[in-house]
Amino acid sequence: MKFIFVTGGVVSSLGKGLTAAALGTLLENRGLKVALQKFDPYLNVDPGTMNPYQHGEVYVLDDGAETDLDLGHYERFTNVKLTRMNNLTSGQVYQTVLNNEREGKYLGKTVQVIPHVTDEIKNRIHLLAEKTKADVVITEIGGTTGDIEGLPFLEAIRELALDVGYTNAIFLHVTYVPFIRAAGELKTKPTQQSVAKLREIGIAPHVLVCRCERPLDKELRQKISLFCNVPVEAVIEEKDVDHSIYEVPLMLQRERVDDLVCRLLGLHTPVANMAHWQEILRKLVAPQHRVRVAVVGKYIGLQDAYKSVYEAIIHGGIANDSGVEIVRVDSEEIEKDGAAAKLSGFGGILVPGGFGERGVEGKILAAQYARENKVPYLGLCLGMQIATIEFARNVLRLNKAHSTEFDLNTPHPVIAMLDEQKRVTKKGGTMRLGAQSCQLALGTKAAELYGSFVINERHRHRYEFNNAYRERFEKAGFVFSGLSPDGKLVEVIELKDHPFFVASQFHPEFLSKPHQPHPLFRGFIAAAHQNTHGRAV
Ligand code: GLN
Repeated sequence: MKFIFVTGGVVSSLGKGLTAAALGTLLENRGLKVALQKFDPYLNVDPGTMNPYQHGEVYVLDDGAETDLDLGHYERFTNVKLTRMNNLTSGQVYQTVLNNEREGKYLGKTVQVIPHVTDEIKNRIHLLAEKTKADVVITEIGGTTGDIEGLPFLEAIRELALDVGYTNAIFLHVTYVPFIRAAGELKTKPTQQSVAKLREIGIAPHVLVCRCERPLDKELRQKISLFCNVPVEAVIEEKDVDHSIYEVPLMLQRERVDDLVCRLLGLHTPVANMAHWQEILRKLVAPQHRVRVAVVGKYIGLQDAYKSVYEAIIHGGIANDSGVEIVRVDSEEIEKDGAAAKLSGFGGILVPGGFGERGVEGKILAAQYARENKVPYLGLCLGMQIATIEFARNVLRLNKAHSTEFDLNTPHPVIAMLDEQKRVTKKGGTMRLGAQSCQLALGTKAAELYGSFVINERHRHRYEFNNAYRERFEKAGFVFSGLSPDGKLVEVIELKDHPFFVASQFHPEFLSKPHQPHPLFRGFIAAAHQNTHGRAV
């Protein structure tokens, strides 16, 4: 069993997760079985209780774990199936250690960061290795070298490398080489300092992945090599991508990082065949068609809040050989200026998931605009609830219809809390979470797109369609195209007499990959294309 530890230096947001995922892709394509794991040094048990402004998207796994968005990159770039074992936070580590202490498992010892906390961290790496039987476990440590809260994780991986031997574990440090405009130069000092910081705690990186805006020339590579004590071929350039994050695996392959890693770990494999990635990239760089779609949300300014949604839209584009321009529209601006002012001219309109009342009325206006003007609409989770409320108010004329999430006293609670949720008092990990199966109805757009009647999709919500209203909706042309196997929960809806108006209570965006675009996104972009160009692709 081999281990690769990925750390980050200088600044956050360097794309360590992407680098780890891209390395995973390359190793998988060399025929290795890979496991990917993320450690987050914060004290929240999971990111599920964090605001998108704090954390970006919460990525949900099949088993219902609410995890860091880097796990989304892992699943999109590789074939790994992740579970809650793949994301560990300091909060979870301390929770386990404290429970052990209360149960008397430490046999009277003083419980300390070293060895108890660090042992628990090491345990979690070994457990994943044993469970997945992977050839290589890639563990990414969140945060930046020098953070106080990251220290126990760094200590744990230092010890683990010592335990398993240096031919079985390597350290890959992702660092930043800034371009200083005034000097017209790339600067290596921050990298030198962050490597020095790592060495202070006993970790000497084997590979330095240098994030930069400009190419790293030979001289700079030699300088970094000399000052950071790594061979020059282990100084890897990872320049900002021109077109897409899906370039990263190909970029790293050109830098031969996978060759190097395999050599260091004594893994003998053929070179990675990346032909299918090249084809994906071709479609991204030079697509046959172009469409524009609007994403209507309230965290529009935030790059990471709807990460998987944006990625899945791009995958839908790949499936249709279409470049997609995604325009983020703030739902509160629709409230101010009206839907026509903000939404005309788009091939399609997408309303993603969300919580809380702010901006909801703007989203309802967006759904109404899409329905009335026959603009393709894809609703995700809250986006399905919004479509329901809009239909209730404007087609069924149910005055003040709403979700009880936003108006407890609405005369028409067309979206209401799940019964099982009414007893829940704790906030963390208590929603309807994870993969559940759903039955699709014959003759619906959903069944046609999936090409199947039974699907499995991931959930994260507390509210549902209120069955007391089902008949009234159905009579008016609102189609319940997907239901839970017992028929009790509405999972997918669509509209008759509309080119594409589909919405799901689940989050299809979590299951889309560039090489396996999700059927709903494929269908949405095809419809957006047809709307824009007047013909099907
Ligand atoms: N707020 C809604 C609910 O809890 C929708 C959640 C979501 O979009 N993820 O049901």
